[in-house]
Amino acid sequence: MRIAFDSRGSLCDLSSTMPRTYRTLTALAAILLADALWAQPSPVEYSIYAIRYANSPGDLVSSMVIGAPSGEKLDTVYAVWLLRGGGRNILFDSGFHRERWFKQWNIEDYLRPDQAVALAGVKAEQVTDIIISHAHWDHMGGIDLFSKATVWIQKGEFEYYSGAAWQPGGRHGGIDPEDVQELVRLNTVGRLRLVDGDNVEILPGIRAYTGPRHTFASQYIRVGGNPPFVLASDNVDLYRNITEGKSSATFSNDDHSANIAQQQRMIRLAGSPERVIPGHDALQFQRFPIEGRVAIIKRAETN
Ligand SMILES: [Zn+2]
Repeated sequence: MRIAFDSRGSLCDLSSTMPRTYRTLTALAAILLADALWAQPSPVEYSIYAIRYANSPGDLVSSMVIGAPSGEKLDTVYAVWLLRGGGRNILFDSGFHRERWFKQWNIEDYLRPDQAVALAGVKAEQVTDIIISHAHWDHMGGIDLFSKATVWIQKGEFEYYSGAAWQPGGRHGGIDPEDVQELVRLNTVGRLRLVDGDNVEILPGIRAYTGPRHTFASQYIRVGGNPPFVLASDNVDLYRNITEGKSSATFSNDDHSANIAQQQRMIRLAGSPERVIPGHDALQFQRFPIEGRVAIIKRAETN
């Protein structure tokens, strides 16, 4: 039997003619089993850091927590996450630096992401890998700042935003054409890896998951270890998404229920809602010890 998420991230069973309810339950059981099987002890204990590279004052909560009161505002942050372990320095997302975005958004206390990462003790050329959660400007716009890194992105995300997104009927809000061109260039020089689908181990102990549909094929990661963490990026904008059971902003309004279902899956994969780290929530810099712009989510003994 082959189980998959369909294009909206809901469960589907590709091969069976069983009654629909039974099929759905069987598919759900298979997903739960697969998630549990792969959530085994990690070969690497990673240190995990959140690094704040800018502030975003006065954001509309309803743009991040679907159904929140209209007009409510919140100060949020722009962040990247650094994983250190097994001889690697891995970034989850890369921030941005192109001028046009400073004009469109209210950005304060900005430090270029490579300089912000250096505050955590890792120079730009020491970053070995960058896992991109999704192609938006504030997450993919820094891939050209790290000259040695291999970049990992979902195959569906790469194909859509380098192709159909720019055709009639396509959607490319929040995508910077220069970022896409850089992504294509990295592919031609052998520095791009395309992650093909859900529940894929991309580096030792680090698995990628799809389905929450913040963008066409956004992904989140589970960092195995004791304890494990899930780094959600904008698939969960704020802790409030989880505590209130509300969707983050998604590719289309049809994706809200899939987003909420994936939040529950993230909690299972992390083993606790406190270990699901959202994309733009300033609270992660209060819930964990901080050193300047760096929150120490987990410090492994060896890193
Ligand atoms: Zn974002």
